[in-house]
Amino acid sequence: MSSSAVALQDPRPAAEAAPQALSVVAHKFGGSSVADAARYRHVAGLLRARSEAVQATVVSAMKGVTDALIALAHTAADGGDWRTPWQALRTRHLGTAEELLAASAAPTVDWLARQFDELAELLHALAVLGTPTREAVERVQGLGEVYSARLLSDHLRALGEDVAMLDARDVLVVQQVDLGVAVDWPASEARLARWREQHPAARVVITGFVARDAGNRITILGRNGSDYSGAIFAALFQAQELHIWTDVDGVLSADPRLVPEAVPLAALSYHEACELAYFGAKVVHPQTMTPAISRGLPILIRNSFRPDHPGTRIAAAGDDAGPVKGLTLSPDLAVLNLEGAGMIGVPGTAERVFAALRDARVSVVMISQGSSEHSICCVVREAEAETARGALQGAFARELANAQVQSVQLIRGISVLAAVGDGMAGTPGVAARLFDALARARVNIRAIAQGASERNISVAIASADADKALRAAHAGFWLSAQTISLGVIGPGNVGGALLQQLDAAQARLKRDANIDLRLRAVASSRRMWLDDRGTTADWRRRLDESDLEADLDRFTAHLQAAHLPHTVIVDCSASSRVAERYAGWLAAGIHVITPNKQAGAGPLERYRAIRAAMAASGARFRYEATVGAGLPIVSTLRDLLDTGDEVFAIDGIFSGTLAWLFNRYDGSVAFSALVREAHALGYTEPDPRDDLSGTDVARKLVILAREAGRELSLDEVQVESLVPAALRDAAPDEFMARLGELDAVFAARHAAAAAAGKVLRYVARLDRDGRAKVGLVELDAAHAFAHLRETDNIVQFGTRRYCNNPLVVQGPGAGPEVTAAGVFADLLRVAGTLGARV
Ligand code: ADP
Ligand code: ASP
Ligand code: MG
Repeated sequence: MSSSAVALQDPRPAAEAAPQALSVVAHKFGGSSVADAARYRHVAGLLRARSEAVQATVVSAMKGVTDALIALAHTAADGGDWRTPWQALRTRHLGTAEELLAASAAPTVDWLARQFDELAELLHALAVLGTPTREAVERVQGLGEVYSARLLSDHLRALGEDVAMLDARDVLVVQQVDLGVAVDWPASEARLARWREQHPAARVVITGFVARDAGNRITILGRNGSDYSGAIFAALFQAQELHIWTDVDGVLSADPRLVPEAVPLAALSYHEACELAYFGAKVVHPQTMTPAISRGLPILIRNSFRPDHPGTRIAAAGDDAGPVKGLTLSPDLAVLNLEGAGMIGVPGTAERVFAALRDARVSVVMISQGSSEHSICCVVREAEAETARGALQGAFARELANAQVQSVQLIRGISVLAAVGDGMAGTPGVAARLFDALARARVNIRAIAQGASERNISVAIASADADKALRAAHAGFWLSAQTISLGVIGPGNVGGALLQQLDAAQARLKRDANIDLRLRAVASSRRMWLDDRGTTADWRRRLDESDLEADLDRFTAHLQAAHLPHTVIVDCSASSRVAERYAGWLAAGIHVITPNKQAGAGPLERYRAIRAAMAASGARFRYEATVGAGLPIVSTLRDLLDTGDEVFAIDGIFSGTLAWLFNRYDGSVAFSALVREAHALGYTEPDPRDDLSGTDVARKLVILAREAGRELSLDEVQVESLVPAALRDAAPDEFMARLGELDAVFAARHAAAAAAGKVLRYVARLDRDGRAKVGLVELDAAHAFAHLRETDNIVQFGTRRYCNNPLVVQGPGAGPEVTAAGVFADLLRVAGTLGARV
């Protein structure tokens, strides 16, 4: 592993630390902090609120301006229309000046107008020339910083501050070297001293990014180079601190655009910061640390949008917050693999490889060699890959010809994922954790390297896997093992109650049970929202306002995309279409929890596929709330079976509605009147026939029978419907109007039962021979089922152990709150199997 590209020598001694309050502080504001007039105003306020005696402030170009300037230069050289974008850029700058400076804007506006005239001349020259010379392009692309520094310094002056603008092209002298840009310190110091004599102001606003080279040509410090400018001017001004202000809360554990869960880091060592920056953390330019290291200058990465946040402190010593501090991705790489038996035991092979690459001026990003010495693999930039391969083929032409080296293989489309942290040294298990996370995300590793410093483990992977790999690795290092990516389908009565309960419990579960629930998707039958933050807050409004159409493929992909350690889908719909998905989800390792009876009581084929998928992947499928809402009926049955008991018979009252109706019905009021009352109380389905038909009860019996190991289908259950044949096809309104037609039948049945000293109950029964039956039966007045209250459900398990006196579970078996609680309990049980403290 090439450790870092920042080892440029700077032998000068460290600045003396200030005895009292900081007297000189350098600041750097990136383009993200100076996007428009309001942001310049904010930056000025931030600077003025500080108390240092001398303030050296480096600014970037306004957001997007450098890109626009580079595009302008190329458009001009290619003969394209550069006037339109040039005009837009001019309008943006002049407009910002007018807005920022109001009455005192005229001199700045005139100055900017002249600058843009000069730019136009340059572009015109490029158009005539027809080729974008490096010198011209560099000159053009650095102009954004010049405009920007002028805007900020004129604004500060207008506010009455003692301020001078320093054009770094007049002061900073640099030289392009192999590893980047090196500062000519003596020349730059001398120039600054002269400049300071003429500009002794307390506040200095400096152009970032730009400089002069030894030949006095205008040059730049590389993309994102203003960070480096910040460190250079901090050194030149002998500042005691450098504050780099950007748009995030410091250096984060990973690029937040790829990993929304990334966390800010409180402290980093220079080494850690170098490694992170060199391997792609765009938040700070890798060379920034060079001037800081030799002086022990602390660098603070801070959020200009949140000045109260302490940000990340980069200094000689970091902190010990975990072995891995950050993860980075470097894209656009290629693997070169040199393979052959002729290399075994031959000294100097590696040297020849690297000499060939050096001569071809190819820089090597990563190296790995197996101890068999049968192959050497190195990672290079994709743009240099062909050159590199050519160089190796040339260097090993003789070995290739006589087959001592079989091939020089080139694999394009490679990214390197690096885990960085000083604490990795001597900590076992870091690599294992990384590889485990990648394996679980099914990411194939092409090559591995760990520097002897043990500060960096790098893996080369296919770029197509890169984002997934980064997220998976991040989850592996930063998230609790019980972090669950949760999606809820069907936010109706039960789903809504569940989301409410989750919202209330989320913080407590995290604190007490170590379960980190991230609600990342909610879908109704029409709409859905997908979210990275994973919060339950406001879920209803977010759904109402979402314009995303429900799409279960996208829903699933989103839940899995974060690569959180576990994914759970809760289906609170009553849809068979959703149940169709279960087998696929389970096969993909997604746990499924549901009060939806469609899978448990649906086609046997589907049920078998679900069981097979569970068995293959180990994912859990739980459906306690399908029977008896929150009552522990399925789990009790499961416990009986798992502990080796044999279930002979299951009897029960599984419909809260029918329980209520027959608990009440004593012949004194008409049965139809009771149905109407239950309907009004919301105890029935909107169409009471859904309860009276008995199908729902039959479904629950099928679920329990299957749990007990019987392959029962719904059509094998003998169901007595309480809806007379004549009313089965009537429209709902008509049915309600003709309810009275039920009365005579029920009155007669009740009278007959009462005469025999019995009561009527709607009972489900699975007998010893596997026969399943649901219907209205007469029971002794002393029977357990004769004494239920309200909408209570009850189940009796007759088993080998509980043969004389069956095991009974009884209690309220309906209502959204208790049903949701049953679903929630399933979720906690699943979390428990994942290692949560529940
Ligand atoms: P500025 O304009 O202030 O120089 P940049 O856009 O150059 O800002 O850098 C800040 C951005 O870097 C952040 O908005 C973030 O998207 C990105 N970034 C990439 N990796 C990281 C990381 N590890 N930590 C913080 N930010 C990162
Ligand atoms: N404006 C330059 C860039 O966009 C330098 C910087 O902002 O750091 O690369
Ligand atoms: Mg930047």
